[in-house]
Amino acid sequence: MTTLLINTIYKATEGEGIHVGIPQIFVRFQGCSIGCVNCDSKETWEFDPSFSMELETAVSEVEKISQGKIKRVSITGGDPLHPGHVPGVLALIKELKQRNYFINIEAAGTRVVDEIFDLVDFISYDFKTPSTGVRTSKDLLLKMVEQYGHKSQIKSVIAHKKDFEATYEVYYQTQSKLDKVPGTWVLTPCYEPSEPFPMERFQQILQLNEEFGAPFRVIGQQHKWVYGADQKSV
Ligand code: SF4
Repeated sequence: MTTLLINTIYKATEGEGIHVGIPQIFVRFQGCSIGCVNCDSKETWEFDPSFSMELETAVSEVEKISQGKIKRVSITGGDPLHPGHVPGVLALIKELKQRNYFINIEAAGTRVVDEIFDLVDFISYDFKTPSTGVRTSKDLLLKMVEQYGHKSQIKSVIAHKKDFEATYEVYYQTQSKLDKVPGTWVLTPCYEPSEPFPMERFQQILQLNEEFGAPFRVIGQQHKWVYGADQKSV
C-alpha cells in the first residue's frame, strides 16, 4: 500500500508558464523543506501526517474530477521532488500514465530526479532568483537542459532588476556552455498577495527583456488577475 502526503487535489486553469489557459487537475503534495522567502504556499511546508492519502484514493479523486474530459495533471507542492515524496510521486505517475494522462511536474530547481523526469511529459523547472533566498545549482540546471530541454520550461520569479540580471547571467552562461539557446525560459513578475497589481514591475521586466535582446518570455500569473492574488486552488 502506498501512502502519499496530499494537500489538495483540484481542477483549475493553468495560470502561469507556457501552458497558461489550459484546464488541468492539480495534485498538490504536502511538505517542502526548501524555504523560499516569497513562497505563496507556506501552508504546504509541513510534512504533516494528517494529510496522508492512499494512492488509490488520490487516483480515484483525479478520475472523479476529470470525468474523462480533462486529461492533464500537474503534480505540484510543496516540493514533490523531496526524497520523502519520490516513491509516492513515482507510483502516482505510473497509475496516471496507464490512464493516459499528460503529466507535468513542478520542479523547485533544487533537484533533478531522473526516474521522475524520464516518465513525465513535461517539466517546469525553477531557476531561483536572489529574492527567493534559495540558490539553484548551475550544474543541475545545465543537466536539466541537456537531458530534458526538449520537454521543459525554466521559470524565474522576478521581483526586481537584480533578479532579472541574475537570471540573465545564468541564461548567458548556460547558453555559452551548451552553445545553443537553453530552451524556453519564462519570467514570472512577482505579484505578492499583499499588494495591488504590480503594473510598474511588470512593465519594467517587459522593457528589460526587450533591452537584453528578448531571451525570455514574460508571462504573468493569470489566476491572480482573475481571482485575486491570495485565492488558493484557482
Ligand atoms: S519550493 Fe515552492 S513550496 Fe517550497 S518554499 Fe519554494 S515556492 Fe514554496
